[in-house]
Amino acid sequence: MAVFTVVNPATERPVTDVSLASVEDTDRLVERAHAAFPAWRDVTPGDRATLLRRFAAVVDAHVEELAELEVRNAGHTWGNATWEAGNVRDCLNYYSAAPERMFGRQIPVPGGLDVTFHEPLGVVGIIVPWNFPMPIMAWGMAPALAAGNTVVLKPAELTPLTAIRIGELALEAGLPEGVFTVIPGKGSVVGERFVTHPLVRKVCFTGSTEVGKRIMAGCADQVKRCTLELGGKSANVIFADADLAAAAAAAPYAVFDNAGQDCCARSRILVERTAYDEFLDLLEPAVRAMAVLDPADRRSEMGPLISAHQRSSVRAYVEDADVAFTGPAPAGPGFWVPPTVVLSDSPDERIWREEVFGPVVAVMPFDDEADAVARANDTDYGLAGSIFTADVGRALRVARGVQAGNLSVNSNSAVRYWTPFGGYKQSGLGRELGPDAPHAFTEEKNVFIAH
Ligand code: NAP
Ligand code: MG
Repeated sequence: MAVFTVVNPATERPVTDVSLASVEDTDRLVERAHAAFPAWRDVTPGDRATLLRRFAAVVDAHVEELAELEVRNAGHTWGNATWEAGNVRDCLNYYSAAPERMFGRQIPVPGGLDVTFHEPLGVVGIIVPWNFPMPIMAWGMAPALAAGNTVVLKPAELTPLTAIRIGELALEAGLPEGVFTVIPGKGSVVGERFVTHPLVRKVCFTGSTEVGKRIMAGCADQVKRCTLELGGKSANVIFADADLAAAAAAAPYAVFDNAGQDCCARSRILVERTAYDEFLDLLEPAVRAMAVLDPADRRSEMGPLISAHQRSSVRAYVEDADVAFTGPAPAGPGFWVPPTVVLSDSPDERIWREEVFGPVVAVMPFDDEADAVARANDTDYGLAGSIFTADVGRALRVARGVQAGNLSVNSNSAVRYWTPFGGYKQSGLGRELGPDAPHAFTEEKNVFIAH
């Protein structure tokens, strides 16, 4: 059987070996999930809610263990990894309210009674990337299970450990065998099989735009439902009337968090020309002061990149760019790249257009509100963005003008499970999270009863 050796990105040392599923293994587990579906669908809403709350409680009892695993497997800082494990618990608790609230509608029609039902799809396949293994798993798995589906989940090859453990915790919490199955393996094997297997009724994919397009094309063959959460090149737009000190203090965390390996990273900073120099003067000490340390050190604010491959891809962007200043990075082993600020004077530059997925931010001046919106929108992506200004009217105009799914004003807010999340343009298709997420894992059925 093929195995993958998980490596600690902060030390470059092997952590453990993980067996990789074959197509035959995947088929067997999909069939088991399909067999588990009718009974899971028919668990009464109250009992399904109770099981999800129990699952949340078991995850809560293992937050430290899961965080420790993620620090070692993904190089996430202790603070982030703890938040991420807590986010799995919180998503399960939030969506545990859904089974008892899957309301349909009664629609007035002539000649009878008309009612709608939200019915689960069957087996849902979730494909998770390596950048946020735990949250992205939970954002798909929790609402899909709540809606009455069974789930097969493929973690990224590089980061399978927390997913495997959470799969065990689901059984410990009392979820029946086959309801939630973690299948470690290659994207080209297990991930592709989710797309082609007729018993998988929906694919939720998070990852690169390139692979996302292939998933969407593959799903077309069976008119399979799919949700795509893809890349981003989000803008942080800073007007001269903003609290510049606050904007500059916050900006590094909006792009260098998780070493920039974040689809929502505000990796383009647009600054009003009259405040450009002052903003850069404030940004520099904030970047130099970042605690880029061994992620197991609880003071660490930024860890290494996930792999040597990712590091060389990020370095190639920096080599071509006009670097203004950088923050610190440890010497010695580990896939480190320091937080890096580059200046960009042309929207045609690679560093301004492409998702770097590393701790690199490009800064560019703009002239006025219309110019800011035009530059922010001059991208194929549309996932997130921030606006810093003291003018409420302008904040609203720009928030409405930027073509992206998730905007924040005077903050760089992270993804919240209470609110819908997803991309415009090539950043994705469909929405996750928020109160409506379980509906994305159902078909709406209409029934008319003649009087
Ligand atoms: P990726 O190839 O898109 O991988 C994401 C997930 O899809 C992984 O689980 C991967 O499995 C799986 N996969 C790969 N090929 C597949 C296929 N043909 N069919 C089904 N599933 C497949 O992303 P990556 O190669 O890890 O990263 C490349 C770049 O993508 C990054 O540098 C970054 O720019 C972007 N990215 C974006 C996000 C995001 O959140 N938007 C997340 C990760 C990466 P394996 O692990 O086995 O390959
Ligand atoms: Mg790939």
